[in-house]
Amino acid sequence: MRILIVEDEVRLAATLQDLMELNGYTADICHDGGSGLDEALTGIYDVIVLDVMLPKLDGFTVLRRLRAAGITTPVLMLTARSEVTDKVTGLDGGADYYLTKPFEPKELMACIRALSRRQPELRDTDLLTCGDLQLERSSFTLTCGGRSVRLSRKEYDMMELFMLNRRQVITKENLLVKVWGYESDAEDNNVEVYVSFLRKKLEHLRSNVKIKTIRMVGYCLEFSEA
Ligand code: CA
Repeated sequence: MRILIVEDEVRLAATLQDLMELNGYTADICHDGGSGLDEALTGIYDVIVLDVMLPKLDGFTVLRRLRAAGITTPVLMLTARSEVTDKVTGLDGGADYYLTKPFEPKELMACIRALSRRQPELRDTDLLTCGDLQLERSSFTLTCGGRSVRLSRKEYDMMELFMLNRRQVITKENLLVKVWGYESDAEDNNVEVYVSFLRKKLEHLRSNVKIKTIRMVGYCLEFSEA
């Protein structure tokens, strides 16, 4: 499970990240509303923890724009005790849960677990499916009918990203950041190479799922419902 933390208090953000990782989640941090919105718009997160008072864009605006863009990722809003009326604004704006600072780590983790259960396909399941394809997360195995292939780490990360966002176009930029990481000097053609590896594997499996190129933008999955 991947969690986005949008919190400008650097220390609190780091504490939250440690807490998530201790609980077996992957967590990314943004320290302002603008970059938080950009990250959240990728649609790759399972839960977003969103502070209200943020530089650049406040939490409510981030949430509104996110919902307006059709991103339904569950959002847990954080706010100071004094901002009680914010609660109403937050819930109206599409927040799923509200937590007032300071809070107990246990309380936060309980919220995260409850929110992640709202995304049924992500519920600790080992198997992701799309069209006639199945991706086994524990073994990196992609199966279609009676055939299966093992994916390399990067192929797996890429395929998982495609399957979790099957209705969306994934940009090359996004693939670079999510599969190779911010620090990497990988380029667009690394993405192209791995997409071609995946296409060969899909062909070998005779799957009806295809990775379609959206010119100048990126890729999306094309498939018929099983
Ligand atoms: Ca803040």
